[in-house]
Amino acid sequence: MPSERNPTSPINCDANGTFGLVPGVCAAVAEESASWGNPSSVHQAGQRARAVIEEARDAVREIVGAGPRDAVVWTSGATEANNLALRGFAQGALRKVIVSSPFEHPSVLETVRHLGDHDGWSIRLLPVLGHELSLEKLAEIIDGAGIISVMLANNETGVIYPIRSIVREIRKINPSAMIHVDAVQGVSRIPIAMAEWGVDAITLSGHKIGGLQGGGALVLRSGVLVEPEMTGGAQEEGMRAGTQPVAAIYSIHYALRWIAQHGGVAGRAARMVANRKAFLEGVGKAGRVEPTVAPMIPTVPNTVSLRVPGVAADFLVVAADLHGVLLSSGSACSSGTQRPSPVLLSAGLSQEVARETVRVSVTDDPDTERFYQAGAIVAECIERLKGRASCSHGKEGSVGSMS
Ligand code: PLP
Repeated sequence: MPSERNPTSPINCDANGTFGLVPGVCAAVAEESASWGNPSSVHQAGQRARAVIEEARDAVREIVGAGPRDAVVWTSGATEANNLALRGFAQGALRKVIVSSPFEHPSVLETVRHLGDHDGWSIRLLPVLGHELSLEKLAEIIDGAGIISVMLANNETGVIYPIRSIVREIRKINPSAMIHVDAVQGVSRIPIAMAEWGVDAITLSGHKIGGLQGGGALVLRSGVLVEPEMTGGAQEEGMRAGTQPVAAIYSIHYALRWIAQHGGVAGRAARMVANRKAFLEGVGKAGRVEPTVAPMIPTVPNTVSLRVPGVAADFLVVAADLHGVLLSSGSACSSGTQRPSPVLLSAGLSQEVARETVRVSVTDDPDTERFYQAGAIVAECIERLKGRASCSHGKEGSVGSMS
């Protein structure tokens, strides 16, 4: 399989931020979109667009292991899908208790907090054991809950949470709770079995799998409904008003077909594993680089969270960028305030360690050698930066966010 990436473009080791487009998607969108009308219009152009969004629903059901009658509600992305799930379930709920985890993406955690602050919901967060969720007190926590939202894989550390076991335990104690899973970082990287697991709603995002930005979906178990968040037209069975983002939806379908034609989820995962390994070999030259997640904890195949002692992560991200390698740190550095990643702090890392931790998240580009080069470039940056301070060791902020 040839790589179609421009060899002078940066090496994307920040795929959890945006994956980058699968080869050919832009040309296909440019060609096809000229004939699309509004999918709600009855004329032929409208019906061509309608066909695009209908055909793509099946591909989405397949990649998340949904049943044939489960609904796919198109949204502008995962942030909207997470909001739609949580706020949509919350409206009219009788039991105003919501359970989540401290590792969630801000689009879940901030929505949960908002429900607590403004709508009188009680919030319970699952306790953690380092990077993992502690399920010891699960029964106690989920008893009486109306909504439970737990992510499938963490965007910063790559840690996979045991959704199948979690759902099994929840159903024993609280069969009527609505269970939502933010599967953004798991889709196309690990197998997902929504119907088998018994999940009510799953979120995914197009630009995390090789599609365009601006499209995502909330998949709902057959018969499950959410109250719409926006008033407007009756699109998406009345659950999401507004013209669907047809180009982004087409790109999701295109990306899913591309993945299927190139070895499926297992093929993509194998290429990612090779690229992550190559990066780690390249960066190994820098001496002490420490994965923050123990090797026995399962992670998605493309992600590794690395601590570089003595090197501020935000400096390393900038230095690597200047040399053509995209990385990410969990901190937000603005107005002289550096806020270490709340996810890493929740996992028990100290402020110092969190500030020295970068996220490496590779793509499945077949040019594995490039990831070795990326690692080697980052190793050189580390050598130059060793001992330099971060942009600020001042005040702590509230919620940092990493996509
Ligand atoms: N959930 C997770 C786990 C993510 O990593 C992201 C990425 O930013 C989102 C939700 C939000 O996705 P989107 O950019 O599609 O709104």
